[in-house]
Amino acid sequence: MSVRWGLIGASTIAREWMIDAIRANGGEIAAVMSSDAERARSIARDHDIPAGVDSLDALLGSGVDAVYISTTNDLHHAQTLAAARAGKHVLCEKPLDLTVAGARDMVAACREAGVTMGTNHHLRNAGTHRAMREAIVAGRIGKPLFARVFHAVYLPPHLQGWRIASPGAGAGVVMDITVHDADTLRFVLGDEPVEVAAFTQHGGMGAQGVEDGVMGTVRFASGVLAQFHDAFTTQYAGTGFEVHGTEGSLIGRDCMTQKPVGEVLLRTAAGEEHLPIDRVNLYERSVAAFHAAIRGEGRPAATGEDGVRSLAMAAAVLESAATGRAVGVDPQI
Ligand code: NDP
Repeated sequence: MSVRWGLIGASTIAREWMIDAIRANGGEIAAVMSSDAERARSIARDHDIPAGVDSLDALLGSGVDAVYISTTNDLHHAQTLAAARAGKHVLCEKPLDLTVAGARDMVAACREAGVTMGTNHHLRNAGTHRAMREAIVAGRIGKPLFARVFHAVYLPPHLQGWRIASPGAGAGVVMDITVHDADTLRFVLGDEPVEVAAFTQHGGMGAQGVEDGVMGTVRFASGVLAQFHDAFTTQYAGTGFEVHGTEGSLIGRDCMTQKPVGEVLLRTAAGEEHLPIDRVNLYERSVAAFHAAIRGEGRPAATGEDGVRSLAMAAAVLESAATGRAVGVDPQI
């Protein structure tokens, strides 16, 4: 039976990716909610969604099975709690909340309500990252020692709103991009971050003290060290993800992106080879796993717990940058 979805948030990500991804998986979008009645009506009209409403109660009362939450980061917590109380499955955008404690509440609320909860960390659904994870599990690079994440991009003008100027909404490159690095590192390495040291930068785009660049180092439980570089301000850096082990290196390029693109080179004593990469749409894979989890088959691609753990690393990065010292990553889920 088709899953009936309600969209909480008339967002860019819903319009550009998630509406199509839900429909590609046979999901039905029954209603969309915006805080602005006209924006709700307009997105409903433009995307053939039967109802555009301007209150959470109306959305939760419209007979939906699941909600996709893609409002600004400060609203995810209250909306998840309300949806869970109403018995709806919740696929929530990252970061789950502005605080790790708040994110934990969200997971607990969904667990208590017996509904499925997922975090929409898309990058672990990329063929490139899945291929790197499989190569590591297969022992193709020996023991992983180091990882490097290149995720310094240029925030497109149409997204230069709350992300760069509204601390209260959860602005900043760390909550926007580093949290994705955290999830991707955790997924590819199959490891958990323990401690971070980082510096943030104000490179001219962020306002109100909002950071728009960051570099840092993470120590993982296995001893792996990872570097990350994230920004809103660089137009030509390109993206990448590398893991270097005792017997080989995995070099991913153009893989920190929303599109199913990018390549992964494996370099060992045997020479160089490009790993085969599937080109499945990242967001469609997310929804497929979520639908299966609702049916009781497996788990969401990134669970609520994954959202908590990845946020915990991002929170430690912010604390390290603010205090000038290395900070332990909260291990509690
Ligand atoms: P947007 O800025 O597009 O939308 C966020 C909110 O802004 C909307 O919910 C909407 O409020 C409000 N809004 C939208 N258009 C307007 C407008 N014209 N005037 C005033 N307010 C407006 O955010 P994004 O889509 O970029 O991000 C939403 C969430 O998704 C964030 O949590 C972000 O971190 C996450 N995200 C995740 C990605 C991923 O790949 N996993 C990628 C991009 C974002 P209302 O609903 O009340 O209308």
